[in-house]
Amino acid sequence: MTQFKAFEVTKEEDGSFTRAIVERDTSDLPEGDVLIRVAYSSLNYKDALSATGNPGVTRNYPHTPGIDAAGVVAESSDASIAEGTEVIVIGFDLGMNTAGGYGEYISVPSGWVTPLPAGLSMRDAMILGTAGFTAALCIHKLESAGMSPSGGPVLVTGATGGVGSVAVRLLSQAGYETHAVTGKASEHEFLRNLGASEIHDRSEFEDESSRPLLRETWGGVVDTVGGAILFNCIKALKYGQSAAACGLVSSPMIPASVFPFILRHVNLLGIDSVELPLDEKNVIWSNLASNWKIDNLEDFVAPLTIDTLSDAIDRILAGEMVGRGLLTHSS
Ligand code: NDP
Repeated sequence: MTQFKAFEVTKEEDGSFTRAIVERDTSDLPEGDVLIRVAYSSLNYKDALSATGNPGVTRNYPHTPGIDAAGVVAESSDASIAEGTEVIVIGFDLGMNTAGGYGEYISVPSGWVTPLPAGLSMRDAMILGTAGFTAALCIHKLESAGMSPSGGPVLVTGATGGVGSVAVRLLSQAGYETHAVTGKASEHEFLRNLGASEIHDRSEFEDESSRPLLRETWGGVVDTVGGAILFNCIKALKYGQSAAACGLVSSPMIPASVFPFILRHVNLLGIDSVELPLDEKNVIWSNLASNWKIDNLEDFVAPLTIDTLSDAIDRILAGEMVGRGLLTHSS
């Protein structure tokens, strides 16, 4: 049994949710095949939902959020995952109703564990985290549906966020003409440094007019926000091209008609990083460690400690985070 620190969210009797840093013991963790000493975690929008009582993410409190973790195996009952192995865990139930990476230890089933691929450090993996992984998954699925650099510019919405910023870098690195949609006039330089060749103000995409189609513009779309913005992107896809939908920061609803689908032959692709089978997750991680490896990953980092997490959770909920919040555990 080992004592460790964890960032914990508690549901109070009046229904409010409070946050505190607490001391825990590894015997408090759920029974799992693999006990991992967590070195790094990250801040995703979903972690902020878990930390504020969103029942679609977390039902059981007190709870330690953190849907991402990278660390070293401390104990393992699975012969294929030896003690001392550096590993990544993202998705499945981690940080939802299973204590997550905002604690210094996690205990999980071996079927959730990805051995760290050669070419990626634990820190790199968590700078990417679920957000970076999801950006890569969107591009992987778009390319499987035929997207290529010769098919026209690719648009990324929510571009300064975690998923969006990594998507901009991955696309531009892969030779795509990459356009970014942002609500942050102050962050155009950040987006240009990531490789965006054109930057569009979010307000250009919020119109809910009944025009069935817009001018054919995009060879692909990575959408992290949903709502009217997503449908305006779909209306402007080039013939036969696709949009990948992974998020709902603007709205979970899409004010849509079938016209782009039946007149332009376009596709709306669903993206889920959570339940994606481990072997498919491993393929994306090995791409991120090799042919999709991002140079200068440190450009994305908003550094966090367990003491600064609470403030960062409020900032991500307010849509004010830029880049990827990287939590480094101190011990
Ligand atoms: P972030 O909060 O880091 O980024 C979201 C970005 O969206 C913001 O930075 C902002 O960028 C933009 N934004 C904020 N508010 C609004 C608004 N009201 N309307 C339009 N745009 C807005 O979140 P993440 O990148 O971590 O996640 C993005 C989405 O993807 C979330 O909904 C998350 O739940 C989802 N997600 C889904 C996954 C999956 O497996 N399907 C996995 C990971 C995330 P800007 O100012 O530049 O426009």
